[in-house]
Amino acid sequence: MSRMHDESHRIDRVSWLRAAVLGANDGIVSTASLVVGVAAAATSQQTILLTAFAGLVAGAMSMAAGEYVSVSSQADSEKAERAKEAWELEHQPKAERIELISIYKNRGLTADLAEQVADQMTAHDALGTHLRDELGLSKHYSARPLQAAFASALAFAAGAILPVILAALFSGQMLIWVVSGAALVLLAALGATGAILGGAPIGRPVIRVTFWGAAAMAATAAIGSIFGAAVA
Ligand SMILES: [Zn+2]
Repeated sequence: MSRMHDESHRIDRVSWLRAAVLGANDGIVSTASLVVGVAAAATSQQTILLTAFAGLVAGAMSMAAGEYVSVSSQADSEKAERAKEAWELEHQPKAERIELISIYKNRGLTADLAEQVADQMTAHDALGTHLRDELGLSKHYSARPLQAAFASALAFAAGAILPVILAALFSGQMLIWVVSGAALVLLAALGATGAILGGAPIGRPVIRVTFWGAAAMAATAAIGSIFGAAVA
């Protein structure tokens, strides 16, 4: 029992870390692309830096808002399902018993065993059993919208800060090469980290994440140079 408990906590921590890696990924790709785009348009150093910083803040806020809304609505629907299930257990226990038995039969138990399992599980923790085996809601899961919003804003900002710092240190053509090079190296490292956390081989994720990062920066660089040429 305690071993299962530890295991589920390990999974929680890993999925949390993977979400943080993805958030940092977003921060790097979008902010580095912004910097490359405005730098390719030959904008002033000050404008580039301001754009990078605005990109960091806007991205972090947008991540926070999106995460808050999605986690809140998930929490709302879980609460509603929990209440509905509790009502059904109280008011129609026979139908709920039949429902549970048929779930276990569908999973491969014989009718006798399914009945035994259903009755023992119901005696032990009826609501928890229905939430888990009927609705797939884990008992450990509890959504915390504010915490999730803060964590994803922080993850985005952690990735986005690199292009901002580089935009303060370098300028012109040099900035474009330094930002895109550093972004690709960091994306590859994050891709590898994410793969290791997920227990997957690192080759494909690294190629995938650097390819899309390079594509994003190439797109904004192209747009930036077209605009830059048009204005000049
Ligand atoms: Zn039920």
